[in-house]
Amino acid sequence: MKKQKICIVGGNMSGLVTAICLSKLDFNVDLVIGNTTQRQNSSRTIAISENNFKFINKLNISESLRDKSWICSKMELYTENKNKKFNKIFELDREKKNIFYMLENSKLMKILMKEINKIKSISIKRDNVTHILDQDSLKGIKIKEKIYKYNLVILCIGHNSDLVEKNFNQNKIENYYNETAISTVLNHDLIQNNTARQIFLDNSIFALLPISNTKTSIVWSIKNKLNKNNQLNFKKKIKSFASNYLKNIKFNKNIEFKNLNFLIRNKYFLNRTLLFGDALHVLHPFMGQGFNMTIRDLKCLENVLKKRINLGLDIGTDDVLSEFSNKTKPRNFVFSLGSNLLKNSIAFKKTRNDIFKIVNKSNFAKNIIFDIANKGLRF
Ligand SMILES: Cc1cc2nc3c(=O)[nH]c(=O)nc-3n(C[C@H](O)[C@H](O)[C@H](O)COP(=O)(O)OP(=O)(O)OC[C@H]3O[C@@H](n4cnc5c(N)ncnc54)[C@H](O)[C@@H]3O)c2cc1C
Repeated sequence: MKKQKICIVGGNMSGLVTAICLSKLDFNVDLVIGNTTQRQNSSRTIAISENNFKFINKLNISESLRDKSWICSKMELYTENKNKKFNKIFELDREKKNIFYMLENSKLMKILMKEINKIKSISIKRDNVTHILDQDSLKGIKIKEKIYKYNLVILCIGHNSDLVEKNFNQNKIENYYNETAISTVLNHDLIQNNTARQIFLDNSIFALLPISNTKTSIVWSIKNKLNKNNQLNFKKKIKSFASNYLKNIKFNKNIEFKNLNFLIRNKYFLNRTLLFGDALHVLHPFMGQGFNMTIRDLKCLENVLKKRINLGLDIGTDDVLSEFSNKTKPRNFVFSLGSNLLKNSIAFKKTRNDIFKIVNKSNFAKNIIFDIANKGLRF
């Protein structure tokens, strides 16, 4: 029997990891990666939960992800007090266990791309998709006037692509935070660097995320109205906040800016086309959960498609895609809304400090928080 064909559109993290995962099933995969130069120089890093890191490792990526990642086993939250000093309000210490793994986005992408180049059932197209069309009983994508046909098209093309808006522009909850994330990487003197720190400043959130004993990644989400040309000013402030924990700081990467938004889509699929990754949901980065949600979706999609392919059934029909949507949508909805609620409530200093101080006293509450961040919601 002729193998069924999947097209995965999007050459960033969701597209690459989805292509590797689904290539292990018995499909032919076309991966359309568009222009990829921007991401190779990224200053961004990603925190991947222990459970999701295990899943990615099980994809048999030949280059060791473990060697390229850095373990965080402790997490601390701080709040800015009246004297501009930072008071600790929450601490999570898993003792000898890991909370999450940190990876530099550019390194992760390089590893994933290297692996994809070795997989015979994945064929790469380095152009942009311009149209999605119905083609006989299948789905077509158009690249440079040529049309290719598939049983299933998976769009991992981020949250603001025209293609998504044209085809799925109904029923979404979207909110612009009016904030920008500033990301960079610092070099510093050698320390034992396994504690992730997040500081709630009066109008922003400043995170220090270790990526080696001499390197720490910074994610600073700050209210808009920034003069992005004034890098010197940002660098001065970053140094001043970070110098509470790090000595002899030097900038290892440029500063990268990203406008922040929140998005939940109601419609997950339409006629053999499935939305995935940030095309489906976008969270504020303070929880470090956007890509982790996608990995959890991927586990579910893999199971749904595996069942059909083993029975020799068409993988792009509405009943297949509804099964995926019905399983993931309620969990993603509650998780996304919960994270948004938390984001909005931590803006109130007193509420935030009171909540975290109470939770900090309860190991039971800490275990629940860790479990949800690690494995997501399970219902
Ligand atoms: C500052 C920051 C920190 C974060 N930290 C974390 C974290 O610690 N942990 C975590 O889990 N998540 C984190 N996230 C979220 C995470 O980065 C994203 O969920 C993830 O990068 C999403 O990737 P994506 O591939 O779905 O979308 P995108 O990164 O938007 O990629 C979409 C790709 O599709 C391509 N494309 C678009 N249109 C077309 C077309 N027509 N044809 C072909 N290609 C096309 C684009 O060029 C792009 O390469 C963070 C986000 C931010 C902003």
